[in-house]
This record gives sequence, C-alpha cells and structure tokens, in this order.
Amino acid sequence: MIIIMKEAATKQDIDAVEKKLTDIGFQTHPIYGEKKTVIGAIGDKRQISMNEILLMNAVENVVPIMRPYKLVSKELIKEKSVIDAGYGVTIGGKQLAVFAGPCAVESREHFLKMARLVKASGANILRGGAFKPRTSPYSFGGLEGEGLKIMREAGDELDMPICTEVMDTRDVELVAQYADIIQIGARNMQNFKLLREVGKINKPILLKRGLASTIEEWLMAAEYIMSEGNDDVILCERGIRTYETSTRNTFDLSAIPVTQELSHLPIIADPSHATGAYKYVGPVAKGAIAAGADGLMIEVHDCPECAASDGPQSLKPEKFDELMKEISTIAAAVGRELEI
Ligand code: PEP
Ligand code: MN
Repeated sequence: MIIIMKEAATKQDIDAVEKKLTDIGFQTHPIYGEKKTVIGAIGDKRQISMNEILLMNAVENVVPIMRPYKLVSKELIKEKSVIDAGYGVTIGGKQLAVFAGPCAVESREHFLKMARLVKASGANILRGGAFKPRTSPYSFGGLEGEGLKIMREAGDELDMPICTEVMDTRDVELVAQYADIIQIGARNMQNFKLLREVGKINKPILLKRGLASTIEEWLMAAEYIMSEGNDDVILCERGIRTYETSTRNTFDLSAIPVTQELSHLPIIADPSHATGAYKYVGPVAKGAIAAGADGLMIEVHDCPECAASDGPQSLKPEKFDELMKEISTIAAAVGRELEI
C-alpha cells in the first residue's frame, strides 16, 4: 500500500507510521517529496486494516497497490527514475545511454582498441563479457577476473562506466569491485538468489528480459532486486523466443512503451542479441529510440569473423559510427540527446 502523508507531517509522524508497519513485518520505503512524503509499504495486508493507518496522525490517505510488483510500479513512484552510472553518465534522463563494445573481452589490446573506437563514435558506457553464459560448455566462457581488470583499465583510461555480466552469486562481490553497472543476463532473469544478491549492493543493475519471459515476470524480477534495497535497476529488452526463426530472437518493440506505462524504471534496447544479425541491428536500434527507449546496447567488433562470441551480430566500428550519427538525428526528433 501507499501511505500519503499530509504536508504538515513531522518526522515523528512519519517514523510512527513506519514503526507501526515494520513491527508487523512490513518493509517501508519512504519517498521524501518537496511538499509531501509518501511511504511505500510492502507486506501482508491481512495483518492490518487500512483504517488503522488512516487514523494515525498526519496521514492523508492510504492507497492499495493493485499490481503484483510494487517498488517497480508507477503506482508508487510516479516520476521516471534517472540512474547515475558515474562518470557524468545517467540512464533515463534526456541524454541517451549507449552501451557498446565486444560481446566478450578477448584480450587487453583488443578490448582497449574497441573501447577507444566506440567512445570516439559517441558510446558513453563500455560493455564486455568477462563471465560469458554460453549454450555450449565447450565455447569460450570468458577471461573472468582477468577480463574484469581489462575492462576497468579501459574505463579508467577513457573515463567511462563499464557494464559486465555476473552469472553466479559467488562472483557478485568480485564483479562489483570492478564494474559500474552489473548485468543480469537473459538466462538468469529468474535466478532469484542472484537477483536478491545484486539487490544488496549499491551499483546499478542492468536486467535483461528473460528468453521467454512476459513483461510481468520481468518486472517481478526487477522487484526482487529492489525489494533488497537496490533501487537502481535498468531494464533491457533483448528479444524473446517466438516461433519466428529468421532472427535469433523476436525484438518486442511494444515492450518499450508498455514497461514505461507500468514502471518508472528506464529501459534500453539490445538489437544485437534481439536479431542475431548485424544487418538488422541498425533498423531495430533506430526503431527502439523512436519508440522512446532510454538507450541501446550494441555489440561492436572489428573482425566479426574472428570474434570469440557473437560475431554475426557484431557491427564493425565504421558501421557503428554511421549508426550513431543516425541515432543522434532520431534522438533529437523525439526530444532526446546523443552527443557524438
Ligand atoms: C550479452 O549481453 O552478452 C548476453 C549474453 O546477453 P543476453 O543475456 O541478452 O543473451
Ligand atoms: Mn553477446
């Protein structure tokens, strides 16, 4: 439920409401507005009658939340969240966030080269996999700790935040030491232990949509993270499994306006994993920005045919550069900005 406090509510009034609720097992999340404070309360509603709260000092109204996700919902937080990734980069504001880099960190020289190139084209966040979720156990699984160090070096050199995936609860601490944004990949979207674990750290989490997940399941996964105290969740639409086989996955364009209607969380699009083919990356990226996405995640590789993973969907740096110019024109047309 949401408790709306009167303008005149004092700190003691707010504390009293919070105490009443936490004493019966609720979690409370106060949001201090300029004039009024609103308290999001999550717990078993059968434990208390709404009237009991309504009669407390300085309580203006009590509103039940209908959706199964609460913290994620716009019913609780109406204003869009703008997430600070560090290095002057935000996600969800006017400026578009462009995460770019190779699928996997392959070597120090290669990653630094790709990082410098994508930055020169206007990307503002570096992406790269150090722990790679691969369908085959015989495929390249990433450089792990070594890969994290390489990414950090590139981020430090170029003054850019870095985003990389964590696949296992046992690696969360290590990945959080190096990364500015931690990715939960599609395959782990419903790994609830992992979601809870990244909910305990104070770094933004990029939550990819599961391979065959509904929007509601995806938002519930975000709720897991937020319920542990981490409010900085970025959604990423990366295509879902359908009966269509011409592309690796089916990009769900409508997920962008739908999630924006349901949630205050920012959403970016990943046309690389959605399509699996470099030639479709540009059109889907442009469509996503036109539809209101807060950014993009794009895989870039200078030698797609020799890439350790996801070569066929990687853009060559020149193509990425051209696309960024087109994206910046579209961004301006929909009231967004992309400095290139
Ligand atoms: C990735 O970003 O490299 C990745 C594996 O993505 P997804 O989880 O969307 O397949
Ligand atoms: Mn990939």
